[in-house]
Amino acid sequence: MKTHQLFIDGAYVDARSGRMFDKVSPSTGEKIATVHEALAEDVDLAVNAAANALKGEWGKMPKAVRCDLLMELANAIAARTPDFIEAEVADTGHTRHFAEKVEIPRGAANFRIFAEMLKHTGGEFYQMDTPDGTGAANLELHRPKGVIGVISPWNAPFLLMTWKVGPALACGNTVVVKPSEESPATATLLGEVMNSVGIPKGVYNVIHGFGPGSAGELLTQHPKVNGITFTGETRTGEAIMKQAAVGLRDVSFELGGKNPAIIFADADMDKAIEVTMRSVFANTGQVCLGTERIYVERPVFDEYVSRLKAGAEALKQGGPETPGATIGPLISDEHRQKVLSYYAKARELGATVITGGGVPDFDDARQGGFFVEPTIWTGLPEDSAIVKEEIFGPCCHVTPFDTEEEVIAMANDTTYGLSATILTENLSRAHRVGGQIEAGLIWVNSWFLRDLRTSFGGSKSSGIGREGGVHSLEFYTERSNLCIKL
Ligand code: NAD
Repeated sequence: MKTHQLFIDGAYVDARSGRMFDKVSPSTGEKIATVHEALAEDVDLAVNAAANALKGEWGKMPKAVRCDLLMELANAIAARTPDFIEAEVADTGHTRHFAEKVEIPRGAANFRIFAEMLKHTGGEFYQMDTPDGTGAANLELHRPKGVIGVISPWNAPFLLMTWKVGPALACGNTVVVKPSEESPATATLLGEVMNSVGIPKGVYNVIHGFGPGSAGELLTQHPKVNGITFTGETRTGEAIMKQAAVGLRDVSFELGGKNPAIIFADADMDKAIEVTMRSVFANTGQVCLGTERIYVERPVFDEYVSRLKAGAEALKQGGPETPGATIGPLISDEHRQKVLSYYAKARELGATVITGGGVPDFDDARQGGFFVEPTIWTGLPEDSAIVKEEIFGPCCHVTPFDTEEEVIAMANDTTYGLSATILTENLSRAHRVGGQIEAGLIWVNSWFLRDLRTSFGGSKSSGIGREGGVHSLEFYTERSNLCIKL
């Protein structure tokens, strides 16, 4: 049985709070670890360690040396891929395939890409005229923002946490990470790797615990935290924004979504099925960018629904212990109850259940896990909760449409604005329709295809700000304009 301590100032330590909580396996329901919970004194120690590290070796390190060190870190993560996979799949119940192909390599890439970028990024310079004719030179300087509080979710723990820590460290900040209470393992393990490559102590700190009244709230309220980057639910973002208002700390938010996929009659149907099978069911639907609303042009509606049904029914459920599993459990019993409440609501509202809608029965250890059936509905009105609210499970509602105008209006009729997927072989239409979708990320004939230099984030209640590439520099640095009169 594992015990996850806190990682503060380069060392693993017990929480001074003396409090612990259990972590259970999503695929069997059995306890797999005890986790130390950080309260005020622990949070204070971590934030002070991060603040002090800014004044020491890390703060004085030339940018090129810092970036080289982060490249070494990326290589060291890659070298320990099997350990990270084990830690991640045990916490999340993800299939090994997802951890191996997506999550852990992206974790290493999140350090590599920002280290490379920072090393080669130049600055802005503006020469100006002055009345005396000698002129002035303006240099836009970037300084680290300071101590960054990183609050991350459980759905792709290592990928999403390093997506913040990578650019934060590349820009010269220090971090205190509060991973989700459901996924403490990989953030904890990363401390070992930080030490192994010689990242100075205090640069990377990890505290465990919950949100309200626990480590999360205490971290975001701490006066020495200079910026907060958060990935999670929109409602939590609202709470964190209030906490960050005290002392006017900057925030960067990546929040929930209710993302549409639009399938035109001219789409390559094999491609449409392949893309939406992934966008609906990958990671058991627990992907912020995932599709929960599908709009299909009427002539191909029946064909599409019957092929998606066949795909969903061919998925094999199981956790990392199940050979050949293609879809895992949900993260927790609590989350399963939430998803099942939507399954029940869909039935009450009179949805046509194309497939699924319940809990599978197993005659092995999976019976204790948090599985639900992959589910497809049709027939509900656009204003129903199923079509409006983020469920975050392996399910989608499919609606037919007749015109471009109609489908654009339906796709945009949401409080969210994170991502969208358009399937068509007509490039002009892709450009025309894509340009009218109110979302931060729009894919054509694909999904989750990410160039880390591009902007990432959501509009409306799906987020505040953009990260990725140079956009991350805007959040993780403070600008000063140095105006030199010549
Ligand atoms: P969550 O909001 O419940 O929790 C996220 C983190 O916030 C956890 O570490 C939690 O302990 C912490 N937290 C909760 N309340 C807090 C508070 N008051 N103060 C400080 N910290 C607090 O989200 P979740 O259930 O872990 O993750 C799923 C959600 O994340 C979904 O809504 C999903 O769409 C969203 N998400 C968004 C993106 C994106 O890039 N936009 C990516 C992944 C997940």
